[in-house]
Amino acid sequence: MPIHLPQLTRRDFLKRAALAGVAAVLAPNAFAKTSDEDMLAFFSDTHIAADPAEIARHVNVADHLAAAVRDFAAWPVSPAAVIVNGDLALKEGLPGDYATFGKLIDPVRALAPIHLSLGNHDERQNFWSAFPADAAKTAEAALQRQASVFATARANWFLLDSLEATNISEGELGSAQLAWLTAELAARPAKPAVVVVHHNPATSTQKASLKDVDAFLEVLASHRQVKACVFGHTHDWHVETHASGVHLINLPPTGYVFKDGRPSGWVRATLTDDSAEFELRSLDRTHPEHGQIKKLAWRTA
Ligand SMILES: [Zn+2]
Repeated sequence: MPIHLPQLTRRDFLKRAALAGVAAVLAPNAFAKTSDEDMLAFFSDTHIAADPAEIARHVNVADHLAAAVRDFAAWPVSPAAVIVNGDLALKEGLPGDYATFGKLIDPVRALAPIHLSLGNHDERQNFWSAFPADAAKTAEAALQRQASVFATARANWFLLDSLEATNISEGELGSAQLAWLTAELAARPAKPAVVVVHHNPATSTQKASLKDVDAFLEVLASHRQVKACVFGHTHDWHVETHASGVHLINLPPTGYVFKDGRPSGWVRATLTDDSAEFELRSLDRTHPEHGQIKKLAWRTA
């Protein structure tokens, strides 16, 4: 069974914050919040370097993540879970990158269970060394990927690992992981499923960066409980629906964008039994897409 680091208690968080020498970013009432079992929060493409002063493509990436964490922490309720969908590290997944990322993300751990996945700018062994308690313990040790499944009230969440080679843009799931996904889906036929992966499948605006995209989309399309696929990598907030009826949700980066004018930020999702809403929380409150809510009806079983 996958093992994920449980939520920190208030006391543990304050102890860790004190040890790390970081200013507490949480309001005193943050721990008094109720949890919304139908809400999830997504961060992606944080691109954190060891040095918190690192500027990447004109952006202080640590400041961006800290701002996203503050906005998340100020939300009136806390989510059932938080997913950080890959490219946690700046470029090569160095140990120091993960040390700084860990400090920046700690306030989130205090508010909700967190699930970390990997992108092409991560390094799997360094990640596992930095976050041993977050390492996905898949049933098949042979998989050796950060792949796992967890359940919330209204959906099963399948987290995949498309990191093929560090600092090479394209990714691949591989036949072993696709077989694992197929088996895990088959074991959970009834509840809606959302599949989360770093690399993008083909959309109307971007060509696929996942080498085995056809086999992947076939697995999604043929399992009727799969309702949506959430991904990052393109640094470009965008939502559309695949011909199969599976919704494709391209997360924004918390770090830098590739195209001027695109938003950085995080995404808040709220599920019902037959639909979901995905809301963009832009770091720039004046961005025209800030607060944009995409309402997505689930395809029928
Ligand atoms: Zn990225």
